[in-house]
Formats: sequence, C-alpha cells, structure tokens
Amino acid sequence: MDWDILEQQCKSCMKCELCQKRTNVVFGVGNRQADIMFIGEGPGEQEDLQGEPFVGAAGKLLDEMLRIIDLDREKCYIANIVKCRPPGNRDPKEEEQDACMDYLRQQVTQIRPKIIVCLGRIAAMRIIHPNFRITREHGTWTERSGIWMSAIYHPSALLRDVSKRPDTFDDLLSIRDKLREISSERKVI
Ligand code: URA
Ligand code: SF4
Repeated sequence: MDWDILEQQCKSCMKCELCQKRTNVVFGVGNRQADIMFIGEGPGEQEDLQGEPFVGAAGKLLDEMLRIIDLDREKCYIANIVKCRPPGNRDPKEEEQDACMDYLRQQVTQIRPKIIVCLGRIAAMRIIHPNFRITREHGTWTERSGIWMSAIYHPSALLRDVSKRPDTFDDLLSIRDKLREISSERKVI
C-alpha cells in the first residue's frame, strides 16, 4: 500500500476508543529509508498536541540519546505501538494495541529496517516477546525475519530514575555497533 494512503487512513482512524479523546493522530516521523526504527508505546500530551512522536520531555532526552550514537530524526524512523494518546498517559490496552498494530506492521513492511529498537517494556512485550523483562533483557539482541531487535529503557524511565542511565549508555553503544555491523555487511555484498 502507498505510504500516503496509509498515513491518511491512520489519521482518520476510529478503530479503537483512543480516537475519541485525541487531538492529533501521531503517525510517525523520520526517514522512510532508514536502517533503524525506534518504537515507543504511545503519544503523550505534547505528542498529542503536536502530532509528532517524542516531542515532550522524554523526546528531548531521546534526541540526546540519538546524538550520542550519531543519529538524528532524519537518520532513523520513530513511531509508536498506538498512534493516539491513551488518556492520562495510561498504558495502552491490549485491544487498543491489537487495533493499531496493523499500521506499525505496514510501516515496518515499507521501511524494511535492519534494526528495531523498542523504547520501554510495553513496546518490547509487543514486538520482541510477551514476557519481555526490561530490567533483565534490555540491550540484548534477537534476530527475526532478518531484522535485529532490541529494547532499551524508555526515556521517561530514564528521567525518573537516573541510575538506569549507565546501562542505557552501554545499550546505545551496542546499537551503534550493530548499525556498523549491518552497514559493513552491506558493503561486502
Ligand atoms: N512516549 C512514547 O512512548 N511515545 C511518544 O511518542 C512519547 C512519549
Ligand atoms: Fe486507530 Fe490506532 Fe488511533 Fe486506535 S490508536 S483510533 S487503532 S490510530
């Protein structure tokens, strides 16, 4: 399906109850040819107001995290599991995730990233495996259908608990290494 049609469909979507209170649908942002995608759980207040993922306080920290590994919003693609804000920033419900996942699936199909990094537990449980334990499994790698997948702490968790930051720094370096690995593989071929 054509990207613009997908985006239009998503922006008028009423497939779950999150459509009722949203200001904007937050489809995603970045480079559609990117090697790497970052996936959060769902828009917060600022994202809902501005229609772009990760533009609030957590987003500022995400931008800094990307900069550490020479990335920015033009070099990656950023999206969420659910495209509309769960009221009061509650976790998106299972049925809301189910209703919304097809948009993310189609985004992944079109972008064909080599690496997917889940931001936080909710995205990791949905994308990597349902029992994902972020404290134990952050920074580990799984390959599925030719895509390398990992998860790091959500930037909001890093704002609340700075003691998690050193681990995340190591995880970011591991992401940088994985990006280098896949780009050198490509040169050989
Ligand atoms: N938290 C998320 O998971 N996604 C956003 O877009 C913003 C905050
Ligand atoms: Fe549609 Fe997803 Fe928004 Fe629910 S969260 S209304 S499925 S776009």
